[in-house]
Amino acid sequence: MAENDIEHYETRRAIAEYGRNLLEDDLTTGTGGNLSVRLDEDHVAISPSGIPYAEVAPEDVLVVRTDGTVINGDHDPSTELPMHLAIYQKRDDVGSVVHTHSPYATTFASLGEAIPASHYLISFTGSEVPVAEYRTHATEELGEAAVDALGESFNATLLRNHGVLTADDSLKDAYTVALMVEYCARIHYQARAIGEPEILPDEEVDRLSSKLDSYGQ
Ligand code: 13P
Ligand code: ZN
Repeated sequence: MAENDIEHYETRRAIAEYGRNLLEDDLTTGTGGNLSVRLDEDHVAISPSGIPYAEVAPEDVLVVRTDGTVINGDHDPSTELPMHLAIYQKRDDVGSVVHTHSPYATTFASLGEAIPASHYLISFTGSEVPVAEYRTHATEELGEAAVDALGESFNATLLRNHGVLTADDSLKDAYTVALMVEYCARIHYQARAIGEPEILPDEEVDRLSSKLDSYGQ
C-alpha cells in the first residue's frame, strides 16, 4: 500500500519498527508484547494481535477509538488493548505504552518482587519498578491492576507472572524505559546472585530523577 494511502503512516510505521526491535533487543519472545501510541484525545494506534513482528507492515497496525472500536486496519488489535486504553484513560501525561516479556524483569515479576534502586538508571521508571497484582492476560482486570501499580507517577510496572508495562510521552521514550527496566533487572539479579546489592537512599533517588529531567541534548 502506498504511504499516502495510510492514515497516521509515520506512527504506524514506527510501531511496526519498534515491534521488531523488541525481538532484536531481547525484550520478548515470539509474538509476545505489544505497543501503542495515543494519536489524539479519542484515538490510539496499536500493534496487531499474534502476528510475527517481522511480518507487521504499517497498515497492519490498527487505529482504534478509545472505546475499543477498530476504525482502521484489517486485523484484530492486540488482546491487551483494554490494558493500553486503561492507562491512557487514567494518565493524561502518557503518549505511548509498551508491554514486554523481557526475561530478567519477568523473573522478578514471577517472584512478585519489585525491582529496587540498586542501579541509578532506575530513575527512568521512578524510585523502583513496582509489581501489579496478578490478573489473567488480556482482561480489563489486568488493565486495572497495571493502572493501580503505576499510580500517578511511575513509568513502569511489572505484571505479576507475566511481564513488564512501560508508559511515557512518546514511543521512543516508553521503549527506552523498557530497555532500562530490563537492564536494572539484570544488574539486580546478577548482584543478588553473588551478594547483597546496596539500595540507593530515597534522597538520592529524588536527586536522580531531577537530574534525568535535564539529561540529553
Ligand atoms: P498480542 O499478540 O495479542 O498483543 O498479545 C501478546 C501478549 O503479550 C499478551 O499479553
Ligand atoms: Zn504479554
